[in-house]
Amino acid sequence: MNKNKGFHPAHRAPETLERPALCCVFRGGQLLAQRTGATLQLPRLHPAHSGNEAADQHYLGTLDGEPCIAYMLPEGQPLPQGAEFVGMRSFILQADNALAGLAGLAFQVMEWDRTHRFCGCCGKPLLAHAFDRARECPACRLTFYPRISPVVMALVTRDRQLLLTRKPGYAAGRYTLVAGFVEPGETLEHALAREVFEETGVAAGKPLYFGSQPWPFPNSLVMAFALEHEGGEPRADGVELEDARWFDIDSLPELPEPVHISRQLIDDTIAKLRSVL
Ligand SMILES: [Zn+2]
Repeated sequence: MNKNKGFHPAHRAPETLERPALCCVFRGGQLLAQRTGATLQLPRLHPAHSGNEAADQHYLGTLDGEPCIAYMLPEGQPLPQGAEFVGMRSFILQADNALAGLAGLAFQVMEWDRTHRFCGCCGKPLLAHAFDRARECPACRLTFYPRISPVVMALVTRDRQLLLTRKPGYAAGRYTLVAGFVEPGETLEHALAREVFEETGVAAGKPLYFGSQPWPFPNSLVMAFALEHEGGEPRADGVELEDARWFDIDSLPELPEPVHISRQLIDDTIAKLRSVL
């Protein structure tokens, strides 16, 4: 097996970065991309800095052996030929999984960089941590790591029916799953039961873990679970949700794109229900 295959995260760059790197270049919230047919790629560029001396350039690791870095496009620098800035969501929908994951990581690191310049306790400018991807306050020694926000997602089933919901402003006709942030002090089980009940009025049983997906808007880690219905009829809370109802697996509304873990859980659940019922 090739040990370089796949993505290997790291935050200390090799001493020299002489060859072109796979670059996540940002301007505002947009990412520089190159279009090849229907898919988007990341450009390969010579980084502005080698090694670790640049405060505004972040080493991310290697993808299939290639170094990967993230930085903001310096003012006035021309775009490489054939490259364009695209929104992060369109990049994730149009790139392959490995590049979408890399861009998501880069986006989160750049957001953390932009929003962690000063100590939240004493206000002093922060310094780079000696060996972690972190910033440290020279006065009060507080350390600031990139933040990850845990989100639980629930697919509740009843016989051949799925509990689907839509938020106001979501794409017309499209439904998805209940999801929400885990609150301090909660277990994932508590958060799931609370979110499902608060948003839809339904009680659900023991959660069965499906999988997880980092979602960089701005720093979520979505953990998805399937649960069986235990009681109550769905009714949208009218605040967070516009609608919540059962759909038979043979007459489903428009669903999220396959890149989303919500859709992967829905497809997996439908396949299981079809095989047993
Ligand atoms: Zn401080």
